[in-house]
Amino acid sequence: MISEADARAKILGAAKPLPARKMSILEALGHFAAEDYFARLALPMFDNSAMDGYAVISSGCDRGKRLRVVGEQPAGVDRKLSVSKGEAIRIFTGAPLPKGADAIVIQEDVMREGDEILLNTDVDVGEFIRRRGCDLGEGQKIVNRGEKIRGTTQGLLASQGLADVNVGGQVRAAVISTGDELAEAGERLQPGQIYDSNSVLLQSLLKHCGATVAMSAHCADNARALEREFQAAAKNQILFVTGGVSVGEHDLVRATLRDLGAKIDIWRVAIKPGKPFLFGGLGSCFVFGLTGNPVSAFVTFLQFVRPAILKMMGARVVDLKKLPARLTTDQRNESERAHYIRGKFEHGDFTPIGRQESHALFGLSQANALLRLEVGGSRKQGEMIEVELF
Ligand code: AMP
Ligand code: MG
Repeated sequence: MISEADARAKILGAAKPLPARKMSILEALGHFAAEDYFARLALPMFDNSAMDGYAVISSGCDRGKRLRVVGEQPAGVDRKLSVSKGEAIRIFTGAPLPKGADAIVIQEDVMREGDEILLNTDVDVGEFIRRRGCDLGEGQKIVNRGEKIRGTTQGLLASQGLADVNVGGQVRAAVISTGDELAEAGERLQPGQIYDSNSVLLQSLLKHCGATVAMSAHCADNARALEREFQAAAKNQILFVTGGVSVGEHDLVRATLRDLGAKIDIWRVAIKPGKPFLFGGLGSCFVFGLTGNPVSAFVTFLQFVRPAILKMMGARVVDLKKLPARLTTDQRNESERAHYIRGKFEHGDFTPIGRQESHALFGLSQANALLRLEVGGSRKQGEMIEVELF
């Protein structure tokens, strides 16, 4: 059995970023930028009006003053107009500011009378003008390498006239659930059988971190069948096996992998739940073996697999988000492994939830955070702790 830290280091050491590729900005949501991006264009690109109204020279523009309207400046063209004292230019939101103008009077604050306007307000210099570069300067960094591309990132890249973005490589994964007891949704359960929930849970976790599920299969506890599925799955970058990695007579995963020439780097980690965890390689494919107990599979996925996938996809941050929380009940870890307690983080409080056992899927489904308690660790009710959100 190895420590959690050693297991993590080994896995993250083996997982290398995949080659980057170009992709249309529209498709890049959730991927990770493979390079730094800098502004080619300032935002705004030119001084322009923030409102529909009149461009004026502010000095002397007091309430009650009349100005002659000498032109019109719409958005989308630059008519190269200029304004002098006593004059105004009709202007619209986003239109380039006429030469000489230093304020916009919004149309709600004037009375239009023929080709004149009457000001119903005093005018301050700079009012309703958006200055070139006030939001973003040319050359300023807009996206960091390894940053997750969000909708707002896509919008920002689009504002620079970019159609494509360089992102990290795609992880293709295969999920194989094993166990004679497993039935698929829609099948009639025989006595002693259960429905396969891990396959769905894992596929969802994989998709949530941006990986593609290229294959999913169910396999009985049968060495020949496992061999066949493992060989097919090894064409992908990652193979997940759930169930059958423990020590019982029906746990054939390790032996079958060995027979296929797989290298097994890790088997059993000091983590609770999730001890019978396996990591190795079959050809160029990483193999993760997770126990069949759903909560164990979930916790080991978050702690060991997710960081590896994110690293392969070029992410800069691979850990779960950590937040301070106030513990609502005493907690103590009397086991010999670091314990991940599932609970609910809400309004700054963390409350352990459900049965803290590795099969307790309902409790897990009500939780949204993990509290890690080291061996021998104890925390008191009301104490400030740090939780990991999922
Ligand atoms: P194993 O890791 O094969 O020893 O299985 C541990 C526990 O997890 C047993 O109670 C199994 O019935 C259960 N289990 C195994 N695979 C799955 C699965 N795909 N979905 C839900 N439970 C499972
Ligand atoms: Mg089994």
